[in-house]
Amino acid sequence: MKESKITVRSQRRRKRSRQKRQAWSVALLLFLLVLMADFGAGFLVGSSWQKSTGKEVYPENGALYTDGDYGAWENMAYDAQGNVMQFDDWQDSTAQNDDGQDDTAWNLILVNDKNRVPEGYAVNLVDAGDGERVDERIYAPLMEMLEDARESNWNQLPRVVSGYRTTEKQQKLYDDKIAEYRKQGYPDEEAEELAGQWVALPGHSEHELGLAVDINGATYDVYLWLQTNSYKYGFIFRYPGNKTELTGVAEEVWHYRYVGVEAATEIYEQGICLEEYVENLEV
Ligand SMILES: [Zn+2]
Repeated sequence: MKESKITVRSQRRRKRSRQKRQAWSVALLLFLLVLMADFGAGFLVGSSWQKSTGKEVYPENGALYTDGDYGAWENMAYDAQGNVMQFDDWQDSTAQNDDGQDDTAWNLILVNDKNRVPEGYAVNLVDAGDGERVDERIYAPLMEMLEDARESNWNQLPRVVSGYRTTEKQQKLYDDKIAEYRKQGYPDEEAEELAGQWVALPGHSEHELGLAVDINGATYDVYLWLQTNSYKYGFIFRYPGNKTELTGVAEEVWHYRYVGVEAATEIYEQGICLEEYVENLEV
């Protein structure tokens, strides 16, 4: 009797410590994933993830390409209503991106693998810390959100590790990837195809809008907080795992996109993604 009690107890203890170990491993793994993505080593993890999902895991890569040349992209104009000007040359990559896009409110511009950043897209950038920049219209709600998230983050302020990227930077990232595959001996066409699986095509990354940020929270709790609170500040959890089919991107807990409080609230409450929200608007 005594013996069996001890056995049960020690089994429980073992089970508990096993669970604890597993929880820590998961937490550590998630943290490493975020770090690797931020520092441009996403392909290391991506290759194994891709095997299981068949989807791009880190299409945008990290902060390596965020510094430097902003020049011509700064100080461009938008009209009195806050809409970005020069929409005439909107370039469609597919027939899906057609009617009425010229009237799209700046905060609802859809950019994904099928919809590209409008030609001549204009944005005023402001410093968001650590050399990262964002559209000035999202700066205040972004800072407010990060400040409020601090409490659920062991009192550490979450950081923006990737904000605005120029199309040139995205192009360089893409070209570098093709070169990498060519070096490995892949023929041109195949190298291009493989690169496209890892890096969002130039013109197809939301970061080129200045309305999206990658956030490094250091703890996983901050991501949970953001998932349930970001809508109050106008931001959405842009790539939830259950919407990969529609967004074309596997879950990215660190990537947040500004769409405004009204849209964000609806997206959050209905459990839909931006693709679905925009489609509903058009109906
Ligand atoms: Zn991102």
